[in-house]
Amino acid sequence: MDYVFKVVVIGDSAVGKSQLLNRFSKNEFSDDCRATVGVEFQTKTLLIQKKLVKAQIWDTAGQERYKAITSAYYRGALGALIVYDIANRRSFDNVQRWLEELRATADRNLVIMLAGNKSDLENLRAVPTESGREFAEREGLFFLETSALDATNVESAFLTVLEQIYMNVTHRTITADDDPPVVVKPTLQLKGTRLDLPQGGRREACCSNRS
Ligand code: GDP
Repeated sequence: MDYVFKVVVIGDSAVGKSQLLNRFSKNEFSDDCRATVGVEFQTKTLLIQKKLVKAQIWDTAGQERYKAITSAYYRGALGALIVYDIANRRSFDNVQRWLEELRATADRNLVIMLAGNKSDLENLRAVPTESGREFAEREGLFFLETSALDATNVESAFLTVLEQIYMNVTHRTITADDDPPVVVKPTLQLKGTRLDLPQGGRREACCSNRS
């Protein structure tokens, strides 16, 4: 494995974070799967410019409901998706707060994608596309509207983040000699991020245990 990139997914409860993750990592959408308590992640291995990249994508698994996202969740993250629901104005209003938390806690070179999810709910839209785009431009974020349900832009949203991380990392590695404090060696830096399952079990277990 050439690289492991940690990406966190944040945003209000019920905006579709878990479903975006399922769609990207397993190409699934399941309507009846409740959030597991505790942090979890899924991985997907892909090729970026002929290098094997393992994307390790973390899901809050409901922690945000208790306003208790720990700094450990953000630690080592090189990218983030901030998700809101285009049919839920409040979830968009809260994006600012998520961004502040992210910037206060995570790496300053973090690659951030703002994702307006549930784009399939056009008839219930409460947030104009333009509002999302303007916010993203003002804050220097990537922006896409996605649908975990019909798969629109889900792959693009994650891939854009991963490719940009790759560019940052390879660029910084090349220029490493000039300025040691900004050197990022991703495989070394993420050495402590184990790839085995966190305690509490995975979402599949949650689903299959449901009656
Ligand atoms: P989370 O709390 O942010 O992880 O949200 P979930 O992934 O659990 O999704 C919350 C609810 O929104 C569930 O009922 C999903 O089926 C639904 N949902 C998620 N993504 C989409 C989407 O793209 N379109 C529609 N219409 N519903 C979605």
